[in-house]
This record gives sequence, C-alpha cells and structure tokens, in this order.
Amino acid sequence: MTMNVPIKGEFKKALPVLETLQEAGFEAYFVGGSVRDALLGKTVNDVDIATSAFPEEIKRLFRKTVDVGIEHGTVMVLMDDESYEVTTFRTESTYQDYRRPDSVTFVRSLKEDLKRRDLTINAFAMDNDGSIQDFFDGEKDLKEQIIRAVGKPEERFHEDALRMMRAVRFASQLGFQLEADTFYAIVVNAPLLENIAVERIQVEFVKMAMGNNVLQGMEAFFTTNLYEYCPGMKQGKVALRRFSLIPRPVKKERHVWALLLYFMGVQNIKEGAAFLKHWKLSNQMISDSTKLLELMLYRHHSPLNPYIVYKFTPPIVWETEDLLELLKLPFDKRTAARLIHTLPIQSRGEIDINGRIIMEETSNRGGRWLGEAISMAEKAIVLGAVDNEREAIISWLKENKYM
Ligand code: ATP
Ligand code: MG
Repeated sequence: MTMNVPIKGEFKKALPVLETLQEAGFEAYFVGGSVRDALLGKTVNDVDIATSAFPEEIKRLFRKTVDVGIEHGTVMVLMDDESYEVTTFRTESTYQDYRRPDSVTFVRSLKEDLKRRDLTINAFAMDNDGSIQDFFDGEKDLKEQIIRAVGKPEERFHEDALRMMRAVRFASQLGFQLEADTFYAIVVNAPLLENIAVERIQVEFVKMAMGNNVLQGMEAFFTTNLYEYCPGMKQGKVALRRFSLIPRPVKKERHVWALLLYFMGVQNIKEGAAFLKHWKLSNQMISDSTKLLELMLYRHHSPLNPYIVYKFTPPIVWETEDLLELLKLPFDKRTAARLIHTLPIQSRGEIDINGRIIMEETSNRGGRWLGEAISMAEKAIVLGAVDNEREAIISWLKENKYM
C-alpha cells in the first residue's frame, strides 16, 4: 500500500528541519498524531519529528536548540520563530510498575521507534516527499476505523497502563471501535490504571470527555470498566452517561468538570472542590469549575442581577447561561448580555475612591470600618445606587453612615 500526503501547512514549515537532518546523513520523519491527522484530512497543528540522529548530533546541526527532554532524546529546534520537537529514535525497556520506562535506549532504526508507539494509527512515519511508512497496517485500521495496539496489547498495557486510556480517548475523538484483542486486554488490565499518575489520566480523560464521538468513547470506558479506576468515578457511571448525552462540542475543559459535578448532584463548592482535587486539577481550574456549578445551581431559583455578574465575572456568567441552554434548562442570555455590557465596574481597582481618600475626608482612624465602607460602596456602585464618581461616593457613604 502506498499512501502519500501533500506536504503543506505545518509540514511545509517544518520541512527545513527534516531536510537538514537528512542532508547530514541521518534519517528523519514526521511522526505521531500529526501524520495520523493528515491522513484523516484534518488540520495539523504541531508536528513531531523523529530522527536517527542522537541528541548531541541534532544540537550540532541547528543554530538554536533547547534541551527540553534530552534524557528522553527530545531536543527543541528553534527556526523562523517556530519551535519543533525533534526526538531520537528510541526503544523503551524494563517497565517495572506499569508506567513509563525505567530507561530509554537510543537506536538508529525507525521501525524500532515505531514499535514502541501505542496504537497502529499513531505509528506512521512520513518522509519529506509525503510518502508514508506503515509497518503495522495503520492505514487499514484508519480506513476501517479501528483502534488497535501496536504488537501484543496485553504486553503494551503492562508496559504503560495509560495506553488503555489513550485507546478509549481516541475512540471518543475519532468515533472508532476498539479492536477485539485490544478491547479484551483493557477489560483484563483495567485495574493497572491505578499505577498511573492521576495527572496523566486526567489529560486523556478530558480529551475523551470533549471528544465529538463521546458516546462511543464512553461506551468503551464503561464496558472495559476503565472508569472504575479513575478518581471518584466508581459511583460516577450515571453522571458520566448523562454527561455523554450533552450535545457537542463541549467548548472548554472547565465545562466538563462543571457538568460532571452537576450530574453527580454536588450541591456546594466545598464538595465539588474536594472531588476535583482528587483529579489533581490546578487551583484555577477548580475555582472556575466550581463557580460555574455554583452559578448553575443559583440560577435554578434566581434571576441574574448586576452584583452576581460582577461577583462571578462576565465569562463565568456567560458560560453558565450557555451550559443551562445545553442542558435545556431555563436560561437568559439576553439579560446576561445586557448586564455584562452595563456593568459600571469590573473590579475593585476601578472604584473612584480608596482607603486613603476616605481617611482624608474623615477624622476617624483607619480600621475595620474602612474595608467595610469600601465594600458597601463597591456593592452600591455595581447595583447602580451611586455613580462611580468620587464626590458621589463620599456623600453616599456619609448619608448611609459608613463614614
Ligand atoms: P494529540 O493530537 O492529542 O496530540 P497524539 O497522537 O499526537 O495526539 P501525543 O500524546 O502528542 O498524542 O503523543 C505523540 C505520539 O507519541 C503518539 O502519536 C504516539 O505515537 C506516541 N505516544 C504518546 N503517548 C504514548 C504512550 N503512552 N505509549 C506509546 N506511545 C505513545
Ligand atoms: Mg500530539
């Protein structure tokens, strides 16, 4: 079988990197997801390059490089304001604990490098003329829409249990079916996922959850029992199922988490944050997701008002209305848009007074009252009770005995 992909876009930009390596006598290919996506006719974002050159040899050939993962053979090459990851062909050996190899060995053979890759559809190599090397019949699997491990699935999942999550994630992104042996090996080995760092599972889980064919992905996630080995998911099946029925696309990662918490019946921020902490999310992600949840719950019984919009911030407010719409619950984008556009201030820093100004206006000493006064002024400004203008605020504070 001979496939050919036109060299354009990102591949064309990166071609000088490939050709520099080749002209120096090394083999070099585009590999990984970029080649898969090109064969599927999808737009390619970043391209990965694999080469027979060892890291020191790569570094000698390019003027500007950064050691991003030199112990794994990855060097970043900087060229024309772009950066490219160039990785030495390698094999991985002696997996002790179902995760990542203990050591990598650099090799000069492309086939050895492709053998260590997870799935047949991720194990293509593409030359500078767009011709494809396909040692594991990946093309056939692409055509037949099949997710199949490279080599013996059982062994490959023992080497790195994350590959099971990746298989399901690609099923969800591409709408492919798991090949029978690959499927069965996941069923048998699903518990090995417990050996994998949650951060790595999380990345694949989010990609699965946001996949355009999530029904297919989720089906595989359930029938293989993989879901049981994800943080807090043992009781999460119903929530996940409801989540997978939401119309696509789900636009942002924080929507995944907010919706999941919602379907799990989480009623407050604290409980939601505790669940998301198990998933090792960043504090920012936890805060945003639980805010979305809180506002969704609030909106079940109350309309929007300027202070809510101010407190939750416009993006969270808008996205909440979006989520309510997705859920076919009452929503009000018209009011949201109006309140967002007429918000007198966006943050405390925009108030036309501050502690020093208030102090100058009174003979009182500073103290707790000062913070309270500013808070009250803030609320009054947001609600439109007083203009955001120094004199007006001061008279309002005096009238209301806050100073
Ligand atoms: P995406 O488009 O989401 O980035 P991708 O296939 O490029 O998908 P990456 O995680 O960027 O996925 O990995 C790049 C390539 O590295 C994969 O295509 C695959 O060949 C290989 N790879 C990644 N993770 C593993 C793994 N756990 N085991 C074996 N090979 C892997
Ligand atoms: Mg990639």
